[in-house]
Amino acid sequence: MNRNQFIEFVRNDLASHGVKLVLVNARSLSNKYGGWYADGSRRLTVARHHVNFTGILLHEYCHFRQWIEDRTLWNKLLWKNNYFFEWLDSRKPVSKKVLDAKIAVLTLEYDCERRALKLIKKLHLPLSVEIYTQKANAYLLSYHLITTHHRWPENKSVYRSAISKHMPIKLLPLRRICNEAVLTEDVLKMMNKCF
Ligand SMILES: [Zn+2]
Repeated sequence: MNRNQFIEFVRNDLASHGVKLVLVNARSLSNKYGGWYADGSRRLTVARHHVNFTGILLHEYCHFRQWIEDRTLWNKLLWKNNYFFEWLDSRKPVSKKVLDAKIAVLTLEYDCERRALKLIKKLHLPLSVEIYTQKANAYLLSYHLITTHHRWPENKSVYRSAISKHMPIKLLPLRRICNEAVLTEDVLKMMNKCF
C-alpha cells in the first residue's frame, strides 16, 4: 500500500466510526506537534508537510485504533496523559504525580508504537520497520528529557536520523523505556540539543 492508498485507508476507517481526517497544510501543528488524535472532537489531525508525514499519520491512526479496540486501556491512561500535558504547559514543579503520569504516557505511546510496527508489516506500508523502530525508541525515550526540560522539543526533532541511528533496531522493552538510565551520555547530549 503506498502513501496515498494509506491516507484513503485511514480516512475510510475513521469515517466508519464517525471520525474525520484533517490534513493541515503545514509542517507542524501549533509549531510543535506532527499530529494528534482527539477522541472528544472526533478528529485525527496531521501536518501534511511534516518530514515524517506517513510515520505520523500511522502513529496517530494507531491512537485511534487503541481508542476503538482497547477503550479500557485508553480511558485508564488518557486522563493521566492529559494531566502530563497540562503540567507541561504549566510552570508547576515536577511532582510524584507528574512522574506517574509520564509512565502512563509512555505506556500508552508504547502500545501505540507496537500497533504501528505491526501495521507497517501487515499493510506493506512504505516505511522501513528498522528505521521506524529506531525513531520510536528515540521518541519514547525523549519523554524523560521533556520532563527534565519541562518543555516539548521544539528546537529540533527527536526523529532526526542523527539521533535515531544510535537507537536499537528492536523496540526496547517498556520497562527499559521507562528507565531514564537507558539514555547514554552521547544520546543525552544529542537529544538535549532538541530543547
Ligand atoms: Zn502518540
